[in-house]
Amino acid sequence: MNTPSQRRIAVAGAGLLGRLLAWRLLRDGHAVTLYDAGALDTPPAAAWAAAGMVAPLAETVVSERCVYDMGRVALTRWPEWLAELEATELWHRRGSLVVAHPQDENELTQFRRDLDDALGAPPGYRELDAAGVRALEPGLTGFRHGLFLADEAHLDNRELLNRLLEAIHALGGDCHGHTPVETHPGEVTTPVGRRAFDLVIDCRGHGARPRHPTLRGVRGETLHVHTDEVHLSRPVRLMHPRYQLYVVPKPGGRFVIGATSIESEDRSPISLQSSLELASALYTLSPAFAEARILEQGVNLRPAFRDNLPHVSREDGLIGANGLFRHGYLLAPAVVDHVLAEIRDKGERPFAAVLSEAAPQESLA
Ligand SMILES: Cc1cc2nc3c(=O)[nH]c(=O)nc-3n(C[C@H](O)[C@H](O)[C@H](O)COP(=O)(O)OP(=O)(O)OC[C@H]3O[C@@H](n4cnc5c(N)ncnc54)[C@H](O)[C@@H]3O)c2cc1C
Repeated sequence: MNTPSQRRIAVAGAGLLGRLLAWRLLRDGHAVTLYDAGALDTPPAAAWAAAGMVAPLAETVVSERCVYDMGRVALTRWPEWLAELEATELWHRRGSLVVAHPQDENELTQFRRDLDDALGAPPGYRELDAAGVRALEPGLTGFRHGLFLADEAHLDNRELLNRLLEAIHALGGDCHGHTPVETHPGEVTTPVGRRAFDLVIDCRGHGARPRHPTLRGVRGETLHVHTDEVHLSRPVRLMHPRYQLYVVPKPGGRFVIGATSIESEDRSPISLQSSLELASALYTLSPAFAEARILEQGVNLRPAFRDNLPHVSREDGLIGANGLFRHGYLLAPAVVDHVLAEIRDKGERPFAAVLSEAAPQESLA
């Protein structure tokens, strides 16, 4: 029997936002049912494809200031949440490193100027010479300059998603994989019929397109490689005139490499050109990557509204949280805090001016 403060809540989508919200709501004592269209152990979520960087500084160059402000929340909230999950080993606050090859150093200079314009003083980065780059990442050679963004982090995102699911199960969450749903106020439609809830939270990422015609998918491509020959302690971004490559170290000698952010909703496998560019840029970071084994090639869609900002919509019996774009791990803590404040219906709603504002509409013609 539910107490008046306990509500029966359906969460649609077991990606990043869905798992976080289901977990927090169970901890608040609610009865939670979680649905995902795909398998729960390897979800077809952007969150599974992601690199797991928590990069408020680097992202501010391509985003609005509020992304930086919301991202700062992540730097305190993730360690708190991971401590509750007994998974602090998944969080790495070691900063990130930005480099460019000597012939592309203009790109690094421009990136530094963009950072200055976005944030002003103090700059939030440290300029490094060749010895400074080597001191941070001895595996990298041939770089004369670099920028160290000390206040950034990364997390082992796939293991985080696994741990969240375990915690949801342990707290009695009712989880349904391979169950695509449609969301309605106080109701979800599953393949076997309709089911009523006190509240439905729509966290279907790009899958919520039927409810949000202006939501778009922005294609991202990654390679996962394994090698024991290279060691990196932190994400490295390589500035290049045509692309910006990032390499994020994962446990067990695994690295995630990504670059492309393509305005396309095509989910077909990675193109030969992208694959070649990623692999050859990786090789230029360190020739020791030459013998790395390609484990996986990934493609997924980042859910984005027209302004590339997250939005939380609210109507009676239905909350939608979406539009995390390329900043899911950076922005999820602020978005989750906001949604929980909406549900508790008391206290200040963090970042209400951004998140509560309706997502911009656009002509679909
Ligand atoms: C290649 C790549 C790299 C990225 N790297 C980073 C990074 O380093 N740092 C960072 O902060 N962000 C990164 N992102 C962005 C981040 O992954 C997303 O912003 C974030 O995952 C969005 O979270 P979400 O919960 O809204 O959506 P998702 O994580 O996509 O989850 C949505 C879930 O809903 C499910 N679903 C869809 N339709 C239905 C339906 N009808 N019924 C039930 N379930 C449904 C899907 O199966 C999925 O599991 C990256 C994204 C990509 C693609």
